[in-house]
Amino acid sequence: MKKSWRPQTKLVHGGSLRSQFGEMSEGIFMTQGFLYENSAAAEARFKGEEEGFIYARYGSPTNDMFEKRMCALEGAEEARATASGMAAVSAAILCQLRAGDHIVAARALFGSCRWVVETLAPKYGIECTLVDGRDLANFEAAIRPNTKLFFLESPTNPTLEVVDIAGVAKLAHQAGARLVVDNVFATALYQKPLELGADVVIYSATKHIDGQGRCLGGVVLSSKEWIEEELQDYFRHTGPALSPFNAWLLMKGLETFPLRVRQQTESAGKIADFLADQKQVARVVYPGRADHPQADIIAKQMTAGSSLIAFELKGGKEAAFAFQDALDIVSISNNLGDSKSLITHPATTTHKNLSDEARAELGISGGTIRFSAGIEDTDDLLEDFAQALAKLPT
Ligand SMILES: *Cc1c(COP(=O)(O)O)cnc(C)c1O
Repeated sequence: MKKSWRPQTKLVHGGSLRSQFGEMSEGIFMTQGFLYENSAAAEARFKGEEEGFIYARYGSPTNDMFEKRMCALEGAEEARATASGMAAVSAAILCQLRAGDHIVAARALFGSCRWVVETLAPKYGIECTLVDGRDLANFEAAIRPNTKLFFLESPTNPTLEVVDIAGVAKLAHQAGARLVVDNVFATALYQKPLELGADVVIYSATKHIDGQGRCLGGVVLSSKEWIEEELQDYFRHTGPALSPFNAWLLMKGLETFPLRVRQQTESAGKIADFLADQKQVARVVYPGRADHPQADIIAKQMTAGSSLIAFELKGGKEAAFAFQDALDIVSISNNLGDSKSLITHPATTTHKNLSDEARAELGISGGTIRFSAGIEDTDDLLEDFAQALAKLPT
């Protein structure tokens, strides 16, 4: 792979390891162990004097190809593939902290991410302060002498609020702390947290990277130094490794990832504009629209909108349920980034465990709906939205 290749080319060819059979599609190496020529070779491999794989929990050929292809997309030095997005998040956070440390996190987080920092970390003596991430001053006010980590996602799930990544990175570094960014909603195509100053970026590869609703996966990307000094031992000895079969699915997903995400984003943009003109709709939040409350930050850090839309229907939960149930093409499901268009009612599903107060803080009401655009024809999706909205009272 040449460094000068453009992303789309790297995503088709990056990281490929070809066996003696000359296969065109990358091989799936379903193996736990690796053969050593003799005892001395085994010793040299374990000492790190000889290159090569040792055990699939540490690394394996198909995972290596997927990790290298992700690095090419992200512009990162190193990556580790994990069995799920949550394995990536929990490893990236816990590997670098110890009892007595403090985390500052934006409160608008994917539910399981919020549980890791708010409920799990304190069990091990790691304190966490959750802040409204829309205002940088809130991050600054939360800093303590023992603050070691900042954690955020942007745009957020489900209401597509935005956090100023470069601003938080600067605050984190001034405080001697690191910034971890969950970049699932923006995708690596449209937002580059490492270039904005983040130290670590994580993905749930379950979403746009697989993009076809087949398997779970995750990935942690950073500098070679951070991966080797902070993550490596944690990763090897706690065992979040991804199955080589799933690594293969995700790697093949990367080949079509930009084509899919561009199509999804184009449809989402058109549907967001359509929704904004409808009488049954109280509010549309879409990062590609000029009326997004944080359009200025979006212009600084994202190169396109999103494949997701948040909107609020007049008429609360009853209207939201009636609308979702009336859709033909769009399926009710809580995954996102899939090639099939999906719709979710956060208040009764993904965010049902939050208190009423916490939901209100995040702007999730009975009428709030999250839409994830698939790769169907945009006009078919627009017609599906129109016919479902027509069934609601105006
Ligand atoms: C889905 C998701 C996760 C968790 O990923 P899994 O693959 O489901 O474990 C983390 N963060 C965000 C923003 C997500 O959308």
